[in-house]
Amino acid sequence: MVGWILKKILGSKNQRELRRLSPIVRRINEQDEQLKSLSDDALRAKTAAWKEELSKIPSLEDQWKKLDEILPEAFAVVKNAARRLKERQQTFTVCDQPMVWDMVHFDVQLLGGVVLHRGRIAEMATGEGKTLVATLPLYLNALTGRGAHLVTVNDYLARRDAEWMGQLYNFLGLTVGCIQHDQEPDERREQYAKDITYGTNSEFGFDYLRDNGMATTREQQVQRGYHYAIVDEVDSILIDEARTPLIISGPATISTHQYDKWKPLIEQLVRKQNMLCNRLASEAIGKFEQGDVETGGRLMFKVKLGQPRNKQLLRMMEDPDKRRAVDKAELSFYQDTRKEELFQLKEELFFTIDEKSNEADLSEQGRIFLNPDDPNAFVLPDLINEFTEIDLDQTLSPEEKDKKKAERQQHCDAQAERIHNISQLLRAYCLFEKDVQYVIEDNKVVIVDEFTGRKMPGRRWSDGLHQAVEAKEGVQIDRETQTLATITIQNYFRLYQKLAGMTGTAETEAAEFHDIYKLDVNVIPTNRPVRRTDNNDRIYKTRREKYNAVIKEIKEAHAKTQPVLVGSVSVEASELLSRMLKREKIPHNVLNAKFHMQEAEIVARAGQPGTVTISTNMAGRGTDIKLGPGVTELGGLKVIGTERHEARRIDRQLRGRCARQGDPGASRFYVSFEDDLMRNFGAADRMTKIMERFGLEEGQELEHRWLNKSVETAQKRVEQRNYMIRKRTLDFDDVMNMQREVVYTYRNEVIDSEEPRKLIFEVIDEAVPAKVKEYLDVDEPNYTGLIHWVNTTFPLGLTTEFLIEKIKDAYERKSSHEEPTAVKSLERYIILNAIDRLWQEHLYAMDALREGVYLRGYAQKDPLIEYKTEAYDMFVELMANIKNEVLNNLFRSTSNLQAFENFLATLPQFLMREHAPTAPTASADARMRQPVGAMAGVAAGDGDGAGEVSIDLPVRRSIPKVGRNEPCPCGSGKKYKNCCGRVA
Ligand code: ADP
Ligand code: MG
Repeated sequence: MVGWILKKILGSKNQRELRRLSPIVRRINEQDEQLKSLSDDALRAKTAAWKEELSKIPSLEDQWKKLDEILPEAFAVVKNAARRLKERQQTFTVCDQPMVWDMVHFDVQLLGGVVLHRGRIAEMATGEGKTLVATLPLYLNALTGRGAHLVTVNDYLARRDAEWMGQLYNFLGLTVGCIQHDQEPDERREQYAKDITYGTNSEFGFDYLRDNGMATTREQQVQRGYHYAIVDEVDSILIDEARTPLIISGPATISTHQYDKWKPLIEQLVRKQNMLCNRLASEAIGKFEQGDVETGGRLMFKVKLGQPRNKQLLRMMEDPDKRRAVDKAELSFYQDTRKEELFQLKEELFFTIDEKSNEADLSEQGRIFLNPDDPNAFVLPDLINEFTEIDLDQTLSPEEKDKKKAERQQHCDAQAERIHNISQLLRAYCLFEKDVQYVIEDNKVVIVDEFTGRKMPGRRWSDGLHQAVEAKEGVQIDRETQTLATITIQNYFRLYQKLAGMTGTAETEAAEFHDIYKLDVNVIPTNRPVRRTDNNDRIYKTRREKYNAVIKEIKEAHAKTQPVLVGSVSVEASELLSRMLKREKIPHNVLNAKFHMQEAEIVARAGQPGTVTISTNMAGRGTDIKLGPGVTELGGLKVIGTERHEARRIDRQLRGRCARQGDPGASRFYVSFEDDLMRNFGAADRMTKIMERFGLEEGQELEHRWLNKSVETAQKRVEQRNYMIRKRTLDFDDVMNMQREVVYTYRNEVIDSEEPRKLIFEVIDEAVPAKVKEYLDVDEPNYTGLIHWVNTTFPLGLTTEFLIEKIKDAYERKSSHEEPTAVKSLERYIILNAIDRLWQEHLYAMDALREGVYLRGYAQKDPLIEYKTEAYDMFVELMANIKNEVLNNLFRSTSNLQAFENFLATLPQFLMREHAPTAPTASADARMRQPVGAMAGVAAGDGDGAGEVSIDLPVRRSIPKVGRNEPCPCGSGKKYKNCCGRVA
């Protein structure tokens, strides 16, 4: 109460913040007045002058200070230019459609622009003109010459907005570009070089990954830094899409999956379980008929565990008595005292599925079915115990113990892989439905974002789930992929020095924006008062009744030609609605993941009289629905939600599609107890009571504003859970992120370095002492080991300093025979190749680790902490391995075989032995076929005594003499004289 009064007096925090900004808006408008008298050229000259001035300020911070100073005038320049375009009725084409410029920034838009410039989120309702708002801060921030990015949800919008707003930028003398999916690197680089660049989050993100994780030369990189970005529809991108990280993957080097092997058995198992559950459900019905409610409830609960989407179960859940009996059974089983019983209950099924946590678990019965001879094939062995037993075994020698442990470890890994494959297949069969979570297109499994209904081609579920679904659908199982480069959307956007966002719906997620992105939300008032009526939800017992009511309301509106926009949560639901409307002979458009292309046009027409448009909740986002003639008099666009979405924000988004810019409009949601949200998260008990109290009849509905509250409570619960999931993904990626930074920075140093040899020598300086330490700085110094290592790696021996010097000497000597430019790229290649090969192996191991730590979760350890510790150790090892790999390849790579031979000839004779039995031939090594370096082997001598150092290098003649016209031994397929044997 007190809070409410205070708010009345002081205004909310948001209002206070906005009030503080209003003098700036006044100043912008004053400046705008003064600019009116300038000629076009004089106005345009401001841009160049500011750019010039800013380019002389070296530090970003000082540049930003300057931007704050010039903001009012700069914004006024943009607004003034917009007016000039409007006055002369500037015509142009956008995405091949003719258009006329008709906009001058409103005051609320100026306000939004200031908020965006300050690196915050501007919440502005749909239709308020956010596209135009962004021009103000983009213009201002691009003046630094560091590039400003605008991030959109799809390629179409990126192009549309770049071409549309480009009118303004071009008028003012700034360049604008736009990234599209099908662009080649050269074109992309050109776009990034522009002052302002539009593009989607995945294009920006993937370009980052390609630039930093894959490019091997400067020329292959396209981006030029991360200065300022505005994310349009920021909730959709930073929250909804943030659940799947961007991953560039390639075929795995090791493929161990057995999805196709297990598929037939799992199919049978699922069928068996479904039969079992059907039987249990029938039994339950019988028990209820006999009045044995308790047993009935218990049986139904069992069905719920085994087949949550069982038809009979869903039907029984409509009955309040039965529903309550199940809830009671469920509640009682989760009490601690009955854990044992719950376990028993689960064991009576073949496996259990948890719809909420998305998990599948085999029971003993299920294990026996899959492998009658060895049900233990699906239980993880207790390694710790086994190791202890091995250690205690007196009969084993230390070597035997190690060998035994390694065997057990291997066995355990194989077991874990098998369990993992099977549980992924179970998830694929029981929790993933075609046309809901994914569609099949061109014989591929394409993920459908369940929130937006958008297809996400190229994205894959991780951890083998994608292959499991491919196996289930009988499409080609893509080679097990391994991550080549990955980043979460969160971490990509954190790269920007300044980030801002805009959307119609950010408020409900303000806490997450703040915690994760340090983005605060300001709600900007609308330009005109909102005239939308949000009606109470209508709640039905069953889905069928609900849909009937929806169709009835559509029919009524359609009869008087009022346009209707119907929102659905899934592609499946939108198709069901479409079928029902067809039966009623009501013409309509369906927008879902399958018709992505025409989406924008269809949405744009959704306000015309008599149109009915069905759309998954966010399809067509970013397109404005304008009312057709006479529609205002009919009450504007009518929005019908056919299910409450998991997140309140998405519901608000749907409502916001109507009543733009002061238009009339109305919205209503229809809900049933069978909706997933209500089944999983609704306060089922309370709802059941209410249903009973009102004694709902077939087709009857409940409607009261208190009920909206209960639905929203359920939504809040899901929102929180989803936030935790996203947070968790991010916690894990944060560990990777630090490592990624180190490796990417190093890679870039290699790429940019004019003197890669320095980097090679750095490696020598660091790695050699470490090796020496490894061999000698221990209780039992191992001299022969050290010498052996030196001999197998370099053509020389002896003490550390001597070693370093000798290696460098020898290396200089080797290089002196080669062509200088070729040597540089070879040197870069040696380092990059080492980084890339080992980094990819590391990513693979990290994936396995992330999976593995969850198993340890059972041992009461926090998986994240375990992950962090091990990830760190693995990383330290990785960095050391990279250096060693560089050393290993120093003398095994050459840009030119002839040069290499010449080098060998100059080696001191004492280093050569008369007979070089193991000397490999030049073509024997498969590594020879690598793109840059041809490799010649350096073989180990036995080093038969501490004092004597000898090295086996291939004697000159051991490289077979290759005729100039013979095929080159490097395997290139060219003639030797045109390839490695070419005289430089
Ligand atoms: P949002 O992204 O906020 O939903 P859009 O940027 O798509 O809105 O703009 C919605 C519509 O409003 C567009 O048709 C645009 O032409 C129009 N509009 C935006 N700003 C203005 C303005 N200042 N004056 C006139 N029309 C405007
Ligand atoms: Mg928009």
